[in-house]
Amino acid sequence: MFSLKSIVRKNIWELTPYSSARDEFKGSADVFLDANENPYGTLNRYPDPHQKKIKERLSTIKKVVSNQIFVGNGSDEVIDLAFRIFCEPGKDKALTFSPTYGMYDVSAAINNVELIKQPLINDFQINLNQLQPYLDDPSLKMIFVCSPNNPTANTFNVQDVEYILENFNGVVIIDEAYIDFSEQESFISKINEYPNLIVSQTFSKAWGLAGVRVGVAYSNAEIITLYNSVKPPYNVSQLNQEAVLASLNDLDTFESNVDVILKERKDLKQKLASLKMVNKIYPSDANFLLVNVDNANETYQYLIDQKVIIRNRNKLVDNCIRITVGSPEENEKLIESLQLISKS
Ligand SMILES: *Cc1c(COP(=O)(O)O)cnc(C)c1O
Repeated sequence: MFSLKSIVRKNIWELTPYSSARDEFKGSADVFLDANENPYGTLNRYPDPHQKKIKERLSTIKKVVSNQIFVGNGSDEVIDLAFRIFCEPGKDKALTFSPTYGMYDVSAAINNVELIKQPLINDFQINLNQLQPYLDDPSLKMIFVCSPNNPTANTFNVQDVEYILENFNGVVIIDEAYIDFSEQESFISKINEYPNLIVSQTFSKAWGLAGVRVGVAYSNAEIITLYNSVKPPYNVSQLNQEAVLASLNDLDTFESNVDVILKERKDLKQKLASLKMVNKIYPSDANFLLVNVDNANETYQYLIDQKVIIRNRNKLVDNCIRITVGSPEENEKLIESLQLISKS
């Protein structure tokens, strides 16, 4: 049986969170002299520590309750806080499936937590048989499931992810940074069903706001309360909150940008497939393509010379490069450059 108290670090369970001036007085008034702010300027006031307006919008769009939403300083903060809430440094462990997003590794190392990496099999799916013994290890506190996965671009089988949610007594963090480019439904609709589920999303990809640094976690109210008590009180700046709100109030732009990227993904895939140097393009549920080429190191270097930068993923997946789907003009420039290599 999953019990939240038994997997949260004792010091965090017992933590008395910081109480800000805006926590202690929430009403309206004429004069605020309670936060040592400067009376002059335009950004002189502390931002809303609970990002209420953003949560109201997200609550409608994602069909969850406001107290099931945590707004963080990028997904980086969502990941880092998970380690700090659930993993005793030097003692507890976390697990993920490789190859995957490098930040889990870095965040684990910063928090002095061992990260176990289970290799993906059969075109990058989870190997449940190999995972089974870990599910019963009481020192394993978290499993990161990146779906759609970076850099392999695929989503995992829903039944496999549900098996983990049902058979693991720690928390399962599903990183859905790329979910808006996928046909698969978000796991957000299952946060009421699984008490150990945290879904992480971001404004950095489909929303086009990587510069703004806002990530979101969706979970049950108990887990979100823990997140809120551990985060720095004013973790999302006024400017960042305003940028996110402007986007949330313009869903048409969001949808049309995603549509263009999906169409470009299809076109790019077709054009790449016609090149002699390209051996395989993996199916993509994200805004990038993982491509096996004759020689990834050479291709990468050649494209740099053409002033086109892609990601060389040769060390993670043999002779693979990862190409972000860009604008039609950017994709055209990439294809022209690759056609030159094919000829040379
Ligand atoms: C890009 C990406 C993110 C986004 O991180 P932010 O800190 O929100 O910019 C999260 N997870 C994965 C797997 C990514 O590839």
